[in-house]
Amino acid sequence: MTSTPPPNSLHEVVSCMSGYDPDALPVAQAQQIIQQFITPISSIEKVAIREALGRVLAKDIVSGINVPSHDNSAMDGYALRGSDLSVNQTTTLIIKGTAYAGRAFAGIVNTGECIRIMTGAVMPESCDTVIPQEFTLNASTTQVDVPAGKVTAGDNRRLKGEDLAAGKTALLKGKILRPADVGLLASLGVAEVPVQRKLRVAFFSTGDELRSLGETLDAGCVYDSNRYTLHGMLTRLGCDIVDMGVIKDDPASLEAAFRSAAENADAIITSGGVSVGAADYTKQMMAQLGDVAFWSIGMRPGRPMAFGKIHSAGKSAYLFGLPGNPVAVMVTFYFFARNALLRMMGATIPELPLVPAVSLAALRKRPGRTEYQRGIASVASNGQLQVAITGSQGSGILRSMSEANCMVVLPHEQGNVSAGDQVNILLLEGLL
Ligand code: AMP
Ligand code: MG
Repeated sequence: MTSTPPPNSLHEVVSCMSGYDPDALPVAQAQQIIQQFITPISSIEKVAIREALGRVLAKDIVSGINVPSHDNSAMDGYALRGSDLSVNQTTTLIIKGTAYAGRAFAGIVNTGECIRIMTGAVMPESCDTVIPQEFTLNASTTQVDVPAGKVTAGDNRRLKGEDLAAGKTALLKGKILRPADVGLLASLGVAEVPVQRKLRVAFFSTGDELRSLGETLDAGCVYDSNRYTLHGMLTRLGCDIVDMGVIKDDPASLEAAFRSAAENADAIITSGGVSVGAADYTKQMMAQLGDVAFWSIGMRPGRPMAFGKIHSAGKSAYLFGLPGNPVAVMVTFYFFARNALLRMMGATIPELPLVPAVSLAALRKRPGRTEYQRGIASVASNGQLQVAITGSQGSGILRSMSEANCMVVLPHEQGNVSAGDQVNILLLEGLL
């Protein structure tokens, strides 16, 4: 972590940037400005490990014990002394007893002897090898034959501390905890962990044409879908959400909404009203209540965006004024707001892997802007990853996003793509 003090104003951040042009801002520069202006929250709470799923770990977790605590068997079979094994002929061993998981064999295993052992059972002191049951021959209750060449000394033994040794760091601060991490914590005997408090994000839609669900769809109106995609994306990110509904396009309603959001949330996300042609009061109110930059970003979809901070009654919240078009909202959320919110949450930002795929069709692309086309990736019969575009790529066509399983990311300088060319894709869903 750096100890540089947070910048006081957006102006301070952009003044350090060469060639800053709010009317033609490359994606990378906008991302850089946002990352520099954002500061993480620093409030920690302790939660039971089940509740820690999806939360950001606030402190390193050091293992207090060896996991496993003893050498134990990785198989059901017979524990023996590796030095007893003959290289070229069957070895017959006397069975001294049995070790079960959770019930060790108390005696001593001498040369020429073995014990029957179950997976997870503690290895007797003198044994270093386990022969799986299915490799043995002529097993009775008193003796067993071990054919030559089936195991070598040390096989099928899990070593004390091989998962985690006592004193080793098991999980690093900033990690977003996944099911495996929660299980790992349990394996260490840890019942509660410190996590960052949840980020509180308020959001609302602006636009007189918007109708909420349950309302009549008057002529020229559309249902407000952005609040639902935002709700979904913020929930997936693990935020506490404050859905403020559709705000009417009048100065008093907008001012009240922005003030309430700034006083009660860490971040505010709005959609609509930030484009050049916008004839509403959204931009005006953002400028009046905060330190906000209005950008035209070199990207498609999602060109207009506002970013900054809104102040009210001595409190403040970061503002992401996203465009109104439904696909543009999602793209700007994923490529700007997501990392910023993760940074605020104190999370180590996971690198999103761009993977190469063959484009099945020619794509029109103008250099000088980053494009995020919606794609369907699949594996060709030759095993190669390929991608098709989900039909029309208009920024209002939310179906293109719903049908997609990936984004085709065409970089700033890239020109037209021919069918068969390689492009980079970002898969939308993973296993976890
Ligand atoms: P704007 O950025 O406000 O000019 O809006 C651009 C387009 O997005 C217009 O066609 C709006 O009707 C549409 N739009 C804005 N907000 C929403 C919303 N919350 N849900 C669905 N469409 C919206
Ligand atoms: Mg509008």
